[in-house]
Amino acid sequence: MHKIAVAGTGYVGLVAGVCFAEMGHQVTCVDIDQSKVELMKSGISPIYEANLQDLMVKNYQEGRLDYTTDYQSAYKDAEAIFIGVGTPEQPDGSANLSYIATVARQIAESVEKDCLVVVKSTVPVGTNDKVEQFIQDFLVNNVRVEVASNPEFLAQGSAVHDTLYAERIIIGTESKWAEKLLQDIYKPFNLPVVSVNRRSAEMIKYASNDFLALKISYMNDIANLCELVGADIQDVAKGMSFDERIGSKFLNAGIGFGGSCFPKDTKALDYLAKQNGYELKTVQATIDVNKAQKTMLYKKASRRLITFNGLKVAVLGLTFKPGTDDLREAASLENVPLLLEQGADIYAFDPVGADNFAKVHPEGQHGKGRITYVSNIEEALREANVCFIFTEWGEVKQLTPIMYKELMRTPLVYDGRNIYSVAEMEQAQVEYHSIGRKAVERQNMKESNGHELQSTRF
Ligand code: NAD
Repeated sequence: MHKIAVAGTGYVGLVAGVCFAEMGHQVTCVDIDQSKVELMKSGISPIYEANLQDLMVKNYQEGRLDYTTDYQSAYKDAEAIFIGVGTPEQPDGSANLSYIATVARQIAESVEKDCLVVVKSTVPVGTNDKVEQFIQDFLVNNVRVEVASNPEFLAQGSAVHDTLYAERIIIGTESKWAEKLLQDIYKPFNLPVVSVNRRSAEMIKYASNDFLALKISYMNDIANLCELVGADIQDVAKGMSFDERIGSKFLNAGIGFGGSCFPKDTKALDYLAKQNGYELKTVQATIDVNKAQKTMLYKKASRRLITFNGLKVAVLGLTFKPGTDDLREAASLENVPLLLEQGADIYAFDPVGADNFAKVHPEGQHGKGRITYVSNIEEALREANVCFIFTEWGEVKQLTPIMYKELMRTPLVYDGRNIYSVAEMEQAQVEYHSIGRKAVERQNMKESNGHELQSTRF
């Protein structure tokens, strides 16, 4: 058992802290947000992640886990302090390291025992060196403090599982003492450990994320071409997936990547390259393709409809992916303002993300447009003129093609997640536009008796 403190109780810090406690360590989670700390103490998770709240309550009740804003008491005698604060994007694309710097200074002013500081946050190569120097500069007591890199690879939506059953633990340090302590802390997890130097560990994180982002943008790029040349991206992906060198994951085309990591981590690596006089062309292309992809469906729909003004628009899914309430860089955040600007009457459904979205776009009138949040998906679709699918929540996937036909005033669906089979939508007489596949155009649809369908009703 080790005495651990974790700085930051976001997706990374909180999940790490809870999982360390679950493995038998004594953990104190620190956050500057008093209301978050009170919420956690009352047994409520400030974020939505499967299993997280149950493990929080269990470990808190069993005395292995605590939460505080009093960083001094948490850091002063910790053996290891994990930093999991945010490193958001700055306007120039670089990573904002001010939260890391604040924690480093708080640590330097608090520690009374030798300790290892472990940077879990995603930080540009060379940051760990700077954090170590920064701590030395501000250190108050005569103790030994080293810094190691231990980047995090969890995916939101499966964060607890990804931590308890991580594919690998990366330990980045040149110090035998630090390496041994981290190996010991991770021993109960029984996971593969890769030990490298600090800078390589920092780079592994960016190289991994940017590779995954590249894979998504590559498939989206190919999907757009598929549409033009009459190929089907899902069949193409299936055919590709049998090649072990390619693999079967991350081959789904869609409306672009979002979330708190890929968008900022691609920009931060591009920035780092430029700072070092190098142009990372693959990463630049990844960013460019993604930017265009986010509004691909809106552009398609704009070409199909004369205007969105006064149309009832069903928006299914607001979060950047299912299983999380996180909206950061979600496609909805780009498309909803465009629709509102055009005067759309939006009915938005999301099983967990609606409250967060309403903080940015409160329910009600926005210029010519209007947004209403509904907890019943059918209410969003009833009498709608057009539907956009931005997130592949289970609730959305459960809808059958015929429900769109029956509920909507005009069964016109723009699916950014390729949820439905084109053939089934065609059969249900739903005009259906997705990514990288044949569109089901209304003018080509025939009633079963062979007559042309009535024109679109508005
Ligand atoms: P987050 O924004 O969800 O949480 C950060 C937390 O840190 C907030 O609760 C904030 O109040 C707190 N904080 C800020 N300053 C503090 C201080 N001085 N002391 C204590 N707490 C403080 O962030 P996140 O999504 O968990 O990401 C954290 C880091 O991990 C980022 O670098 C991110 O790139 C990386 N990462 C994130 C994910 C992910 O899926 N979210 C996955 C892997 C890596």
